[in-house]
Amino acid sequence: MELNNRQERILEIVKQDGPITGEQIAERLNLTRATLRPDMAILTMSGILEARPRVGYFYSGKSPSKVFADKLHRIKTSEIKSVPVVVSEQCTVYDAVVTMFIEDVGTLFVVKGDGILDGVISRKDLLKITLGGQDINKLPVSVIMTRMPNIITVTLEDSVLTAAEKIINHEIDAVPVVKTVNNEYEVLGRVSKTNITRIFVEFGESDG
Ligand code: ADP
Repeated sequence: MELNNRQERILEIVKQDGPITGEQIAERLNLTRATLRPDMAILTMSGILEARPRVGYFYSGKSPSKVFADKLHRIKTSEIKSVPVVVSEQCTVYDAVVTMFIEDVGTLFVVKGDGILDGVISRKDLLKITLGGQDINKLPVSVIMTRMPNIITVTLEDSVLTAAEKIINHEIDAVPVVKTVNNEYEVLGRVSKTNITRIFVEFGESDG
C-alpha cells in the first residue's frame, strides 16, 4: 500500500509526537479536521496508526508491508473459499472433462459416500490420459487421480497465507478445504490460485 504525501506527513507527525489528537494534527498541517478525515481513516483502517478515545492517534509500529502480512495471516480460508466441484470415483474421464468445462474449474475433487475426499484431478491429469489412446468413455477417474493420503489439504481455520504457501510449495493449482470426520476428510470447499489472486486485487484496490 502506498501512502500519499499528506498521509506520509501525518505519519511523521504522529511518529514524532504521538499520542496526538486529530485537532492538533490538523493545526500542524494548517488544514481542517474534515479535510484530514479520509487520510486518518486510511491510516487507521490499514493498521498503521491506532486511535484511542481521549488519547489520540499513535503509531502502531507496523510498516505497510507488515500490516499486509498480518492480514494474510488473519484471513481464514473459510472466508474466501469457493464451492468445491466434486465427482464420484465411477465418473468417467470423459465426464470429468465435461464437468471441468461446465463448472469452469481447473481442479476436480473425487469423493466417495458423503463427500469424503478420495482424489484430485487436474487438467494435465486428463490431458495425459488422452495421449495413451485409451477409451476415455470407459475409464473411471479413479485410475488417473492423485489419491489419498497424498492430497494436500487445508482446514477452515487455516489462513490464506497457509493455503497460498501449500499451493506454491507443492506446485499445485488448488487445495480442498476439509474437515476431519472419523479419520477421513469431508470436502467443504476449494481454494485455488484464483481465490488468492482475488485477495491480492481487493487489497490493491482498497488501499488497505
Ligand atoms: P495441472 O497439472 O493441470 O497444471 P496442478 O498443478 O494442480 O494442475 O496438478 C499437478 C498434479 O498434482 C496433478 O497430478 C494433480 O492430480 C496433483 N494435485 C493437484 N492438486 C493437488 C492437491 N491439492 N494435493 C495433491 N496433489 C494435487
